[in-house]
Amino acid sequence: MRITASIGIALYTADIATPDALMVQADLALYRAKEDGRDCFRFHSDELDLKIHERVTVAAELRAAIERGEMRLHYQPQVDLASGRTVGIEALVRWQHPQRGLIGPAEFIPIAERTGSIVALGQWVLDEACRQLNTWQRQGLHPGVVAVNVSAVQIKTQPTLARDIAATLARWQINPHDMELELTESVLMDVSQQHSQAFEALRQVGVRTAIDDFGTGYSSLQYLTTYPVTRLKIAQDLVSGVNSDGRNATVVRAAIRLAQELGIDCIAEGVETKAQADFLVSAGCDSAQGYYFGAPVSAEQMTHRLRQQSPRRKLASPKLTVVA
Ligand code: C2E
Ligand code: MG
Ligand code: MG
Repeated sequence: MRITASIGIALYTADIATPDALMVQADLALYRAKEDGRDCFRFHSDELDLKIHERVTVAAELRAAIERGEMRLHYQPQVDLASGRTVGIEALVRWQHPQRGLIGPAEFIPIAERTGSIVALGQWVLDEACRQLNTWQRQGLHPGVVAVNVSAVQIKTQPTLARDIAATLARWQINPHDMELELTESVLMDVSQQHSQAFEALRQVGVRTAIDDFGTGYSSLQYLTTYPVTRLKIAQDLVSGVNSDGRNATVVRAAIRLAQELGIDCIAEGVETKAQADFLVSAGCDSAQGYYFGAPVSAEQMTHRLRQQSPRRKLASPKLTVVA
């Protein structure tokens, strides 16, 4: 057994009122040590206090922000590698903060998960994505599947999740097949057996399910036999090394093969270069997502992109060349 220690250290100064206050500071430093990967020590600092303060403020503001309409969805295209056409779109949440500007999800999703407001946020995300998909469909645009990210906390604490999703889809007249829920491997491992009926309920709603960031979480692949997953999303961390590291390339090829043998779809995430895209084509991957094909953009910009490829216009020739 390998035992490690995380240590938080606070130094006494004259302005610390009580022993308890000193312990609180040491505790904050300890949390920082754990967040930084454990097995290390951290000193308490004013900067740390500020960060904690920011977090508490974010938690308090988040719920009101949803009601005030400060949340936004950005949309990133998922393209078919053979034709270059947009065949799906991932909805990614942002917070248009009145003072701090546009805030990315990494800054508030973990806080929303810890404070429970992820349930309200998740509901808003799904509703907004369905509303937008309904608008696109009424405009005669065909974005394909729209994907939303789902947190483990939603599955664990929202027993009505599947029913709520079905109701939202019905309200916006969305075919469940046009909606994909993205779950990370850690979500699937984290959500214990007692929640497995939650997956069964989602399957019955008829939505698609994708494993996000595939290959970065757990080495156990058992969940692939347990849960009705319809797509693997190969993680950006693996895709980024396909042209520089032979082992990375092998793992990505194996993941694509795994999806093929399971009879499910496969998409590579975080594709930034033509060389990566060419590799994926040669490895037999169907589709890809990443800055090379388009960064996440506002709904208006995505509408513009979809119009450009609408069947009424002449199709641009595919961008990619197949590497033999
Ligand atoms: P994710 O679902 O894996 O989303 C992909 C992230 O990679 C996005 O970051 C996207 O902007 C970024 N990305 C896309 N292409 C590239 C690329 O070519 N290169 C690089 N370096 N990055 C790329 P973003 O929008 O900051 O989202 C981060 C994470 O936050 C998401 O990872 C997802 O786990 C979470 N998230 C986003 N929206 C939601 C939401 O509505 N609900 C929940 N529960 N989580 C969300
Ligand atoms: Mg995702
Ligand atoms: Mg991902």
